[in-house]
Amino acid sequence: MNERDFERAAELTERERQHALATHQQRQAQRRRATVCEDCGDPIPLARQQAVVSPYCVECQGYNDRLNHR
Ligand SMILES: [Zn+2]
Repeated sequence: MNERDFERAAELTERERQHALATHQQRQAQRRRATVCEDCGDPIPLARQQAVVSPYCVECQGYNDRLNHR
């Protein structure tokens, strides 16, 4: 969650804030699970885990992107 998200969250009602927080925590939990590539099993660098939400390593992500854009 970046600073802008925090500012926006502060403007929401308590219920909306709780929901946003739960969604955020869910995303973080999903992100934590993807420590290795789902495709090849290679470990995903921590920097990549934090930068993008993807269950794939850079190589497999690039491969999948090429397939999807064909
Ligand atoms: Zn991979």
